[in-house]
Parts: sequence; C-alpha cells; structure tokens
Amino acid sequence: KTTTNTDNNILKPPTATGVDPVINSTLPEILWSNLSKFESLTAYECAVSGRKYTHLEIYKLSRSFGTSLLQSSLSRNDVVGVVLPNVPEYAIVMSGIWFAGLIATTLNPIYTQDELAHQLNLSGAKAVVTTNTLAPILQNVQRSKGSRVRSIMVVSKEAPPRWAHSFSDMIKTKVDDSVLMNSSGGFDAREHIAAIPFSSGTTGLPKGVMLTHSNLATNVLQFNSPGFANIKQCDGNKETQERMIGVLPFFHSYGMTCVMNTCTLRGAHCVTIPVFSKEVFIKVFREHQPTFINMVPPLLNVILNLPEFTKKEFESVDTIMLGAAPVGKALINQVLKKAEKFILVQEGYGMTESSPVSFLTPATANNEKLGSIGQPLPTTVAKIVDPKTGDIKSANEGGELCVKGPQVMKGYWQNEAATKDTIDKDGWLHTGDIGFFDNDGYVFLIDRIKELIKVKGFQVSPSELEDLLRRIPKVADCAVIGVNIDLWEAPRAYIVKKDESLTEEEVHTFLKEKAAPFKQLTGGIEFLKEIPKSAAGKILKRVLKKMYEEKKKLT
Ligand code: AMP
Repeated sequence: KTTTNTDNNILKPPTATGVDPVINSTLPEILWSNLSKFESLTAYECAVSGRKYTHLEIYKLSRSFGTSLLQSSLSRNDVVGVVLPNVPEYAIVMSGIWFAGLIATTLNPIYTQDELAHQLNLSGAKAVVTTNTLAPILQNVQRSKGSRVRSIMVVSKEAPPRWAHSFSDMIKTKVDDSVLMNSSGGFDAREHIAAIPFSSGTTGLPKGVMLTHSNLATNVLQFNSPGFANIKQCDGNKETQERMIGVLPFFHSYGMTCVMNTCTLRGAHCVTIPVFSKEVFIKVFREHQPTFINMVPPLLNVILNLPEFTKKEFESVDTIMLGAAPVGKALINQVLKKAEKFILVQEGYGMTESSPVSFLTPATANNEKLGSIGQPLPTTVAKIVDPKTGDIKSANEGGELCVKGPQVMKGYWQNEAATKDTIDKDGWLHTGDIGFFDNDGYVFLIDRIKELIKVKGFQVSPSELEDLLRRIPKVADCAVIGVNIDLWEAPRAYIVKKDESLTEEEVHTFLKEKAAPFKQLTGGIEFLKEIPKSAAGKILKRVLKKMYEEKKKLT
C-alpha cells in the first residue's frame, strides 16, 4: 500500500527506502554492475535488419570504441555529437563515450542542417557519430563557420566516405584500460559531465543541459528501484528477461534513461525501431512479444486506431509506461479495453533537466490513479508553490511543481543566468508545470506556465520559431504559442506583416527549409495588426491563447 508521505506539504517518496546518490562510480560501472548474470543474452536487436548484440558484446565493443575515440585525438571532457536513429549501436556509441570520459551531445537525426550546426557549435562538439546517409549533411556542418568538428564517424554496413571514420573499424580496437576512465583517483561523479542533451527549459532558446555521471546513474537506479518501474532484473534465465521496445528516441533523456540505460542495467532484450512505421511496429509486437513498453501518448493513439492491433498483440504486455506529455485518462482506458486484460499502467513525469524522471506512479497504485504522474522517486522531494510568491501550497491547491533530488542537472551549459532562473539557491528545480497533489500525495498536472510546446512528446521552443520567423524580411513582428488540435499540441504563429504581400504559404515554405517537421506551424498562422504586449514589451501569450479559444468556439 502506498502512503501519503507529505511532511509540511513537502511531497516525499512512498517508500522509506532511498537510493544513494551515485558519487564514486562512473555511469558505465553502474550500468554494467549486473552484467555477469546475463552476458550471453541478447541486449539490442534491430527491428528492420535483425542485427543484434549480446550484453557482453555491447560491453566489450563500447570499451573498444571508447579506446579508439581517445586514440583519435579526442581527450577527456571533449564533446562528441551523436546524430543517430535508434539502432543497436546507439548503446555502444554512448557507453564508449562514457567509458572514455568524453561528453555526448545527442541530436535529433531529423534536424535540418542549420539545427544540427546550431547545437554542435553551441556545445563545441569536436567529433560527430552518424549514419552514412546523414554524413554529407554533417560534412557541410563541419565546413560551416563556427564549427569545431574535426572528425565524422559513420555507423554503417557499407564503407563510409573516404573523409569519414568507420565505426566498424573503431570497434575492433584493442581495449586500453589505462586510457579509459574509471572511478579511482578522486573521481567525482557529481562533477563529471556525461551528456548534454538540449532543452529550452522554462523559457527562451534551447540550451545544453549538463547531466553528470551521477545524475544519469542515480536516475536509472531510482527509476528501477523496488516498487517503481515494473521491470524484472534478469538473472540469466531467458524467462526472466524483460522484453522492451526501443521506439522512443534515445537522443531524448526519456529514451536514454528509461529504455536504453534501463535495458543495460536490467539485462533486458530491446528491439530498436530506427524509423517508425506502423508495419514495423506491429511486426515487433507479434514477433518480439514485448512485456514492458515505454510509450508517449501519440503512440498509444496509434495502437488504439490500428485494426491490426487486437487483444492478441497485448497478450505478452505486463506494463505500459507513459510520459513526456499529458496523457488522457480516457485514452488509457480505451487501450486497456482493447487489450481485454489487466495491464499495469505507470505514468512518469520528468524533464531533460532532471535526467529526466522525478515522478512515477508506483506499481502498487494498480491503475487506481490513472491520469496522475504519481509520486516522487526515491531520494526525491517535491512541492507545489505559488509561482509568484513562492508560498508553499497544501493538498488540492494548484501551483508550480518544484522538485529536488540527485538527478537534477548540474546546470545549463555555459549559461549561468538560465541556471539560476531554473534552480533556486535551495536546489529546487522550478519545472514551469502547474499541478496539485491529492489527499493521497499523488500529483496531477493541469497546465504549463512555461512557454514550451510539446509536439507529440518533442520539445518546440516558441522563442526559436519566433527568431526564425523574424528572419523573413516581410515579417514585422510575431509570436508563437501552443494550441490544442484534436488530442495534441501544435505550434501556431501570430504575425504582423511588414509587407502586405506576405502569405501563409510563404511562411510555411520558409519554415520547411529551416526547421524539423515537428516544429512546423501545424496549429496555423494568423495575421494581426499588432502583437499584444505588456507595458514592459513582453508578449502577452495568455491573451493570444484566449483569442484562439474564442475563435475555436466560433468555428
Ligand atoms: P522534456 O524536457 O522534453 O522531457 O520536457 C519536459 C516537459 O514535458 C515537462 O516539463 C512537462 O511539461 C512535459 N511532461 C513530461 N511528462 C509529462 C506528463 N506525464 N504529463 C504531462 N506533461 C509531461
């Protein structure tokens, strides 16, 4: 039974058992702490090619790759960009970087050249790992102004272009233990950065999020601690091996911690889906028979609407884990109805800035709190505050969710001001999400005060889109907000014309070239005479949202 666990309105984990923050171990040391139990079992398998690796192979090849990276003129703390879809080699690349004591900045492989260049330049990446198809785009990035990229490594069956390095050759390198990073000699996991994914946080443009070895290692342990993620620890017997699907992108912290790192830690078998298609998705369900599936709401919707998805496809599934965007209770219930059996639904909540997980519905909740993000993970505390005054709220009162724990980032990369705006002096991460806790200490989210738009789980920063739109010579001013279309959020732009001839078409065409598909203005474009602003010149987004709601009512 779960307990309320609030102490003067500070929300605490439902169990007394904490998780010691990882201080003296590297992330790979934690991830492979159970390896000897399941060495010979399959770890990752590609849903399309069938290419697969055992847990021991992943471990050994990661160490070879890490050695090779350090022999290729990279040194400790250099940043390496990772631009890959979900392939089994993702785990080797990331762990290789971590074994070497390098830092990974992970990028969405569907980004445009400008978007790739922006993140790689900002993080100062000196090398990039990518696919054969994407290599020419990255070569253009390498040649562009501001780039520090010196080498491009290609994961591919075919020979890479002559100017690139072959991943297949690199993983044949003899391991040199003396160069790989280990936890001896004053290593402090709280200082050493492992990854810099990007997030726009509560305001402004996307920023690098410094996640340390301690952040990522502690979070995978918190997520997998007893009573939370309902995932079995493999004991070497194939029967106890959890079967997972690697469909959520590994470049995002949700996929990285809750799928990839969890699979490695638990000795699970994960089938990776590089590009989503309904056919492959169904094939994976039928052939792999997953037991634990990590989902985002749009995927749940796909399941609901595909006639090929019947109760048979759910037979193997014990648990559905949901997160990354608001999850409608109705949608969950419809999926459960289709399954015609009990499946444990666990909803998680997090932010890139907290590695990402800070809340989860404990397994004991037994679907009684559907729609809630659950309770704080072990060694995590939370509170709901008035966003203006900071006053702490009691049960059933709405306010901003703040969290504190060892998974909270070290800070934003080279951006102290944004760090101070997000993590206060007492260590509370201000999430920009609005919610309340009920009398049992379960948190429900109701709104977001930050500008961030989440399109099918992906972050879209309104500031980034506004910056792009302002580059159109015929645009005088603009503002971007998130609106709800059907079940999902979509970006919508309000534009003041400088030149009356500007059309919606021109705006869409411009943006198509500059921004990834999920950042497009699928919420529409509206031309205004002026953008509503406060006396201080701040865009009044609430006014625009209200305008949109009124307009929707009329149509
Ligand atoms: P990201 O940094 O991309 O993981 O985005 C974090 C944001 O996603 C949070 O601040 C929330 O606004 C949203 N989010 C994550 N999980 C949930 C959830 N379970 N329900 C509602 N919103 C969520």
